[in-house]
Formats: sequence, structure tokens, C-alpha cells
Amino acid sequence: MQQEAATAAEALEVWIDQDLCTGDGICVQYAPEVFELDIDGLAYVKNDRDELLQDKGAATPVPLPLLTDVVDSAKECPGECIHVRRVSDSAEVYGPDAG
Ligand code: SF4
Repeated sequence: MQQEAATAAEALEVWIDQDLCTGDGICVQYAPEVFELDIDGLAYVKNDRDELLQDKGAATPVPLPLLTDVVDSAKECPGECIHVRRVSDSAEVYGPDAG
């Protein structure tokens, strides 16, 4: 039980597979602090200085107060291309590859 509680509190990060992004902007509506559409029409994650991270597979920490919004984004994403994973072992916890 103790281990499960620790898991729930573990740090998470999020990344977007732009190859599958449809550019609809749903993620930006849910969590504009984390996601932004670039001029190429695709969504990217941002770091805590509001800078777009455009390297392929770039991940950014999920602030705990925004976790619900980020998870909802991953659930609603039509491209199924928002991936939320644990920082410690990179295991996907929300998104198309979550177990
Ligand atoms: S919700 Fe998904 S498909 Fe839509 S813009 Fe965001 S990452 Fe792209």
C-alpha cells in the first residue's frame, strides 16, 4: 500500500508526438500553461519559462495543480499523441501507451 501511495505522488512529465498531432488545439484549451500551438500548426509542450520545446520527444514536467487538465488533454486528444509518463522510469501512466 505504501508503494502505491508513493507512486501516485511521483513526478510526471508530458510529451507530444507531433507526427500524429491534428492541430485542433484541444490540449491548449485544457492546459495553456503546458501546451501551445506553434506557427507550424502543431502542438508543443512548454517549459516553466514559457518556452516551446521543439525537439522531437521533448518532455516537460507536469505541475501537480495542472495534472487533471493534462490528463484530460491526453484522454481527449484526437491524435492520441499526448503521453504522460513517470520521470523515474519513463513508464507511461496516461496516454495511448499507458498499460
Ligand atoms: S489535442 Fe492532441 S492532436 Fe490536438 S493539438 Fe493537442 S496534441 Fe495535437
